[in-house]
Amino acid sequence: MSKLIVHKYGGTSMGSVERIRNVARRVAKWHRAGFQMVVVPSAMSGETNRLLGLAKACATGFGADGVALDAAHATPQAHPSARELDLIAATGEQVSSGLLAIALQAYGIDAVSFAGWQVPIRTDSAFTKARIESIDDAKVRTHLNAGRVVIITGFQGVDSDGDITTLGRGGSDTSAVAVAAALAAEECLIYTDVDGVYTTDPRVVPEAQRLARITFEEMLEMASLGSKVLQIRSVEFAGKYKVKTRVLSSLTDPAMDLAIEASSGTLITFEEDPDGAHTMEQAIISGIAFNRDEAKITLTRVPDQPGVAFRILGPIADANIDVDMIIQNASIDGHTDFSFTVHRNEYQRAIEVLNAKVLQDVGAAEVIGDAKIAKVSVVGIGMRSHVGIASLMFKTLAEERINIEMISTSEIKISAVIADRYMELAVRALHKAFGLDAPAGHVGTSN
Ligand code: ASP
Ligand code: MG
Repeated sequence: MSKLIVHKYGGTSMGSVERIRNVARRVAKWHRAGFQMVVVPSAMSGETNRLLGLAKACATGFGADGVALDAAHATPQAHPSARELDLIAATGEQVSSGLLAIALQAYGIDAVSFAGWQVPIRTDSAFTKARIESIDDAKVRTHLNAGRVVIITGFQGVDSDGDITTLGRGGSDTSAVAVAAALAAEECLIYTDVDGVYTTDPRVVPEAQRLARITFEEMLEMASLGSKVLQIRSVEFAGKYKVKTRVLSSLTDPAMDLAIEASSGTLITFEEDPDGAHTMEQAIISGIAFNRDEAKITLTRVPDQPGVAFRILGPIADANIDVDMIIQNASIDGHTDFSFTVHRNEYQRAIEVLNAKVLQDVGAAEVIGDAKIAKVSVVGIGMRSHVGIASLMFKTLAEERINIEMISTSEIKISAVIADRYMELAVRALHKAFGLDAPAGHVGTSN
C-alpha cells in the first residue's frame, strides 16, 4: 500500500488564488509520485481576523470602522456568543478547502473536500478553544483508496450536540497533526512562511541556524518560550501520538525535486527514532529562547513561617493567575523576600490581589513590581547527559555584566530572568557561547 502523507498549508500559503494554485501543483506532484494525500488548509490569510471583526462589530453595535451603528442602543461591552463565533470563524477554512479541491480538479487530480463535521472530527464543547476527542477515519480512507486527494478543513470540529467548534487561534496545525495521528500517516508536513525552526530568532541573531531536527520536547520548550512557529498543542499531539512532523517552506518552487523538498525544513521527532537520533557532533544545546511576556512581583520582609508561600500564592491561584517562576531568599532576622513571575497581562491584577488580600494577612512590608524583565533560556536534551551547562550560561551572562534576577530549570531547559534591556545582548552571547553561531559568511543548517 502506498504511503500516506498529510500536508498542512497556513494562511499565507493559501493567501490568494495564485498561491492556492501553487499549493495544488505541489500536492499534485506528491500525489503523482504515488503518495496517498490528505491536505489540511488554514483560512486565507487575514480571513479569520476579518470574520471575528464582523462578529465583534455586530455585538457592540459599532461598525468595523468604529462608528456607532445606532448610538442609542450600542452596548460596547457586549461579548459575542462563543458558539456563534465558531460558526462564523469556521467558514474561513471551509472556503479555502473547497477552493483547493477545485484547483486540484483543474490540474486533473481527483479531489474531495470535507468540513470537520463531515469527517467527523469530534471535539468537546469548549467553543473557541475546543479539544479534539476523536477522528473517524472511515470516510477519509474510502476516498483515499479510490485514489482521491482528501482535503479536510483545519481549525474546526463538531461537538456531541452537532455544533461546530474551533480549536483556538492557529489551530489548523493541531488539526493536521491529529489527522495524521488518526490515519497513522508516515509524516505530517507543515508548509509555512518560514523554512524551519531556528536555533534562535534570526532577527536577533543573524548567525542563527536552521535545525535539521529537534525533539518534540525541545520544540515544546522553544515554542512555549516564544519561538512561535507552531501552535503548542500540535507539538503536544505530535509527542503524544508519535507523529513525525516537519516544518518547511511553502514559498519554494512547487515543481522542485520531491526528494529534496521531503528532506528540507526541520523534522520534529523523538529521541528513540533512528531518523531523529542526535549525531555525535550534535550540539548539546538546540536553541536559545526568550520572551518579554512576564513581569516580576516581590513581597518584601515576609515573616519566614510555615504556610506563607501558600498564603501568598493561594489567593493568586484563586484569581486564576498562572505563576511561572518562584524564588524565596534565605531569611535574615526571621524575614525573607518572596518573588514570583506572572504573565504581563495579569500583572496589574496580581498586584491588586496582593494588596487587597495578602499584604496584611502575611504581614509583609510591601509589594514591589517590575515589568521590565525578560526571560532567556537555553534548551537542549543534551543537558540530560552533560554537566556544566548552567555554569557556562551563568559565566556567559557574568562576562556581559548581566545580573541574573531569577533562575529556573527543567530537565532540558535553564531559564534566567534578567533586565529586559539586556535581552538581545544575552541571547547573542549565549548563542555564541553554546556554539550555535553559523560559521562566518555561511547561512547554515545545524544537525
Ligand atoms: N485560521 C485560523 C486562525 O487564523 C486557524 C489557523 O490559521 O491555524 O487562527
Ligand atoms: Mg499558524
